[in-house]
Parts: sequence; structure tokens; C-alpha cells
Amino acid sequence: MNLSSVLEEIESDARQYIGRGMVADYIPALARVPADKFGMAVHTAKGQTFNVGDSAEAFSIQSISKVFSLMLAMRIADDERLWNRVGREPSGNAFNSLVQLEHEKGIPRNPFINAGAIVVIDALISVLDEAKDCFLDYARRLSGDSSIGFDEDVARSEYEHGYINFALANFMKAHDNIENSLDLVLDAYFHHCSLAMSCEQLARAFLPLANDGFSPVIADSVLTDRQSRQINSLMLTCGLYDAVGRFAYRVGLPAKSGVGGGIVAIVPNEMTIAVWAPELDENGNSVVGTRALELFAQITGRSIF
Ligand code: GLN
Repeated sequence: MNLSSVLEEIESDARQYIGRGMVADYIPALARVPADKFGMAVHTAKGQTFNVGDSAEAFSIQSISKVFSLMLAMRIADDERLWNRVGREPSGNAFNSLVQLEHEKGIPRNPFINAGAIVVIDALISVLDEAKDCFLDYARRLSGDSSIGFDEDVARSEYEHGYINFALANFMKAHDNIENSLDLVLDAYFHHCSLAMSCEQLARAFLPLANDGFSPVIADSVLTDRQSRQINSLMLTCGLYDAVGRFAYRVGLPAKSGVGGGIVAIVPNEMTIAVWAPELDENGNSVVGTRALELFAQITGRSIF
């Protein structure tokens, strides 16, 4: 199958969906991104790449960074302790729900909602001296690109408007589920979210999850094959917040979205797919990106089922 022409076909179909969503504006720095951007990149485990549209343009990866945070934490933090502090169940609620966290006494449902990622990052800070720098270095190594960086404007904008994230973190601190200072943890959290990467860089960086934990970019394993399967399971069940069931029904692949409009999907043992289109649906997932992945699965016949 010629994936280049598949991606071109997908772009022309998916672009018709532009105008049906809204660019995130609760983080003012994100609201400035043009709504008509569209990029898509596929990277195969065997080393081939296919790209279309704005696939080389960096955007704010937002919650997609929660996968990198978890990959690093599963590698270096105490596993049992980590999973005592954060669950592994779909949330069925908004990614920044306070009600759910209160109901569950400060233990977030999963590592891919905001509260869960804040706990994962707190666990990283407890074992790393310069956690923020280590995280950036990790993302650079995974993608084989040292030019990747935090977008300080986005990080600041989130800090200045991060009332709900502060509320989530304060609430967890009150329940003894945050070990470090809130300022330190939230500064790291906002920086992780602000990471700017292109679809091409994301597709490369996610290869370990399509490759039993082995990164062809680093030429080494960054996860065990079991950990890689575990993270894929969490993406399938928790990667798109409260729309995860609909997404699994339409696309049938483990994936993670972010409010910057990016989504990364995994075809285990075969390839990674990154797509970016900024307009979001009411759950905070890219409208055009979801359509593009649905078409990709249909045309190529790929699904984990
Ligand atoms: N930085 C965003 C927030 O904290 C991340 C949310 C997302 O991408 N869903 O609200």
C-alpha cells in the first residue's frame, strides 16, 4: 500500500471538517494558532516515514506530553508506589474534573488526566534533581532532535490561567498525594504541556510504543515490552478523556490527544501516526485529527481488534 497517497487522500477529506470545532482558548497562548493547520506523519517500526501538510511545524503538544512523563516515571520511579497514587481506569469525566477527584479522595483516575499527570510529575521530581531538564532531554533523545524545546509563552500563559490545575494540585496536596512544593510541581507540569513538537518529531518519539519498548532512534530499549503494552492499554482506555469509547469505536487504536489539537496513535508492532489540526470538539480532542485517524484505520485496515 502506498502510504503517501493514503495520507494525501486523508488530508483532502479531513480538511472538509475544518470549521466544525473550536481552537482551545482557555490557555490564551493557544488561541492564537490558525485553525486551518493540518499535518500528519507516519513512522514505521522499520524506519520509513510518510508526511503530509504541516507535518514539520511545531505545535503545543499539551496532554500528549503525559505519555512521555509516564514512560519516564515507569522507568525510574517505584512502580508499586506510583500505582498506589494514581489509578488505571477511564475517567468518564472531563480531563480537569474536580468533582471526581474529590469523590476519590485525591487519587486521580489515571495518569492521562491532568490530576494524574501532576502526580506522575511529582513522582519524577522526587527522584530527579533537575526533573524539568531531564524531561526535556528525554523528549529530545526519543525524537532524536535536540532542537525541541518548551514554549515559554505557553508555559507562562498556563501558569497565569491555571486556576483549575492549581485547585487539583492543592486538593491532592491536602490528601498527601503530592510530595513536593506545589509551585515546583505545577511549573514542571505546565512546562511538560508546553513542549513544542511537530508531527514528524512526535511520530519518531513514540516509536518505542510500536516496537515493544525499543527506540530505533536511540538504538536501545526505553521500556520493557511489558511496560510498552501497559502504556498502550492505558492509551486505549484513557487516552482521549471522556471520549475514549467513541474514539475506540471509530478508530480502534491506542492514542493520546492534547488540547493543542494533536493526536498520536499506535499500530502495535507496525507504526506510529501523529496528526495535528487545532480545532477541538467538546471533549478537547481534535475534530479533524480524529476524522483523519478514522480514515487511516479504514483505508489501511489497521485496528488492534
Ligand atoms: N495544559 C492543559 C491543561 O492543563 C492540558 C490539557 C489537555 O491537553 N487536555 O489544561
